Amino acid sequence: MTAARNIVCPHCARTNRVPADRPARAARCGACHHLLFEGRPAKANAAGFAKHRRNNDIPVLVDVWAPWCDPCRAMAPMFEQAAAELEPDVRLLKVNSEEEPGVASELGARGIPALFLLHKGKVVAQTAGAMETSRIVAWTRAQIAKAAGLP
Ligand code: ZN
Repeated sequence: MTAARNIVCPHCARTNRVPADRPARAARCGACHHLLFEGRPAKANAAGFAKHRRNNDIPVLVDVWAPWCDPCRAMAPMFEQAAAELEPDVRLLKVNSEEEPGVASELGARGIPALFLLHKGKVVAQTAGAMETSRIVAWTRAQIAKAAGLP
């Protein structure tokens, strides 16, 4: 039996079933035909975030930020670079806390920038403050390894 994973499209938020034996980077959305992984974070509004949280079989790393926050803007290119390294094992999302304050409070964001790692819909790790690419990648991989031991 070939395993398959549910991957939520970063463009239209439709859930796609991606066979594990095919390269995920080449997979396209069955609904909108965009690539499912483009090496960059996806912007999510509240509805999109809910679908990514609920339907993804891969971990989801969320950057909660705001346009007025200088450290958030400084971290943006680092987070973008981290997406290129972490995909297709992780979905990276950006949530603008000014436009989507409900998502920020659902996650319990107090200071920004804040990163939240979701695994099977639950927040399994979080950290606040700007980080550079290598730290984002290392932190995420370490937290995923830890979460893999959870039921
Ligand atoms: Zn799509």
